[in-house]
Amino acid sequence: MKSHHLKLKHLIMGVAMAAFFFTSIGSVWGGYRMNVDSIKENTLETNRVYAQKLASTAESYLHEAHQILGYSANQMRDKMEDEDALNQETERLRLQNQMFNSVVITNAEGLVLSVSPPSIEIKGEVLTSIGGKEALSKKTPTISKPYEAMTGRLIIFISHPIFSESNEYLGMVAGTIYLKEPNAFKTLLGEHYSKDGSYVYVVDSDGRVIYHQDPSRINDVVTKNKVVQAVMSGKNGIQLVENTKGVKMLAGYSTVPSTGWGVVSQKPLDIALAPSFDRVQDVIIKSVPLMIVSIIIVLWAAARIANPLQQLATLTEESLDKKNVEGLKSVSGWYFEASSLKNVLIRSLSFLHGQVMFFKDQSTVDPLTGVTNRRTMDAMLAEWLASNVSHAIILLDLDHFKSVNDTYGHAVGDKVLQFSAKHMESVAREGDVCCRYGGEEFVMLLPNTTEEEAAQVAERLREILATTESPCGRPVTLSAGIAVYPEMADSTEALIEAADGALYLAKQAGRNQVKVAEQSLSKNL
Ligand code: GH3
Ligand code: MG
Ligand code: MG
Repeated sequence: MKSHHLKLKHLIMGVAMAAFFFTSIGSVWGGYRMNVDSIKENTLETNRVYAQKLASTAESYLHEAHQILGYSANQMRDKMEDEDALNQETERLRLQNQMFNSVVITNAEGLVLSVSPPSIEIKGEVLTSIGGKEALSKKTPTISKPYEAMTGRLIIFISHPIFSESNEYLGMVAGTIYLKEPNAFKTLLGEHYSKDGSYVYVVDSDGRVIYHQDPSRINDVVTKNKVVQAVMSGKNGIQLVENTKGVKMLAGYSTVPSTGWGVVSQKPLDIALAPSFDRVQDVIIKSVPLMIVSIIIVLWAAARIANPLQQLATLTEESLDKKNVEGLKSVSGWYFEASSLKNVLIRSLSFLHGQVMFFKDQSTVDPLTGVTNRRTMDAMLAEWLASNVSHAIILLDLDHFKSVNDTYGHAVGDKVLQFSAKHMESVAREGDVCCRYGGEEFVMLLPNTTEEEAAQVAERLREILATTESPCGRPVTLSAGIAVYPEMADSTEALIEAADGALYLAKQAGRNQVKVAEQSLSKNL
């Protein structure tokens, strides 16, 4: 069946594939979203914990720095005049634990008594740096804001006052941290720096960068950054922010209470999520074999489901052409609907074919005797004439049939008619046609038959009837007239007329006999 309609098989395949496709996409997407959310959460939390840890480490570091300087201040209060001792102490403080890049001891006026390293040539000068002045005026332990020193370096100044036993301010011992150069402070912040794109930076209470893995960023003021704003207000927490370069960052932050510094640990969102993309890819690649198997199963199932219906459709059409239902019987009705449809089709088509055959017979056959009816006989004769088929006709009439009816009844008369027709068919040869012409008159059409051959057929029938007991309990006889085309007539009417003439002669001559029409007679009529 060639048709542009969508086929059931393709419909099922389409629906199944679409369902499969959307389910897969949905589950991959859902998995991906969950993964992304959990990665975000985990990364934020990791950064928060890390920032908190660094902040508390920095806090202890500064605390320790003050303790170390305080200890020195105690040691030195009696030795402020001893230049060697002062030099030893500054050198020891600088070198012992790498905490400070430089160390100074000044008197109460800020005059530098000793400096390490000595290469900073400020011994004998008065400290004028911001950190120095702040310490001298406050006379308490200080941690300066970052500032540019006389040497041009960006530094933090950490100091401890020196008091005499009588509590007289004698000066201070101070260390500096060079923010852009190696020291224990930088090592402390940078040691956990990992290569996965995460990094840490530290801002002071004004939002100025005092530590960054990229030294060029140190001293930048980044107060516009949302995280910096949050951390400057003394908060700890997490946030998804855009950094100054427009890169989205998963940030955790925490403050260093004693200085108001903020520590930020962050990781670019893209880098954090990269494993998710890889995982999606992985999931897709791993599900390919399953997908192929599923597709094969779907295609196979679609074909299995659609096949019976498709066959039923094709074979129903074929059944209408061939007028039998044999093809349909071979269809496998392996599921309920197909099997019901098959049975219904077989039943209804059998019924339909039966009806068609019945009506076809009805229109060509005489209902009482089952031989061809007169209408069909006329059509056949017309066809033979048109295609110029030579033929003979035998016109038969039962003798004294009226008296059969009168004596035995009409029903027996009918049986005698059926009996006569049956014998007529028994003497007919291949191609001969027996036909009820009307009442108890019959005609036999014999294609390509001479008058002698026709006479032999008629004679045989006459003899059978005359010697065989009929349903009325005795044999019946017939009279027959024969004519042939084209020798005796040039039309069907003329041919029948000729045969009728011969039949009349047979009746005249005493019945139970066969007569052939006179050739010249009929031709001349
Ligand atoms: P003949 O030898 O001259 O032919 O005598 P006949 O009695 O056969 O005469 P006719 O041909 O006039 O009679 C025909 C009779 O056939 C009349 C009718 O009752 C009977 N007949 C016609 N058709 C049927 C039929 O279908 N059934 C029965 N039982 N009788 C029929
Ligand atoms: Mg008659
Ligand atoms: Mg008769």
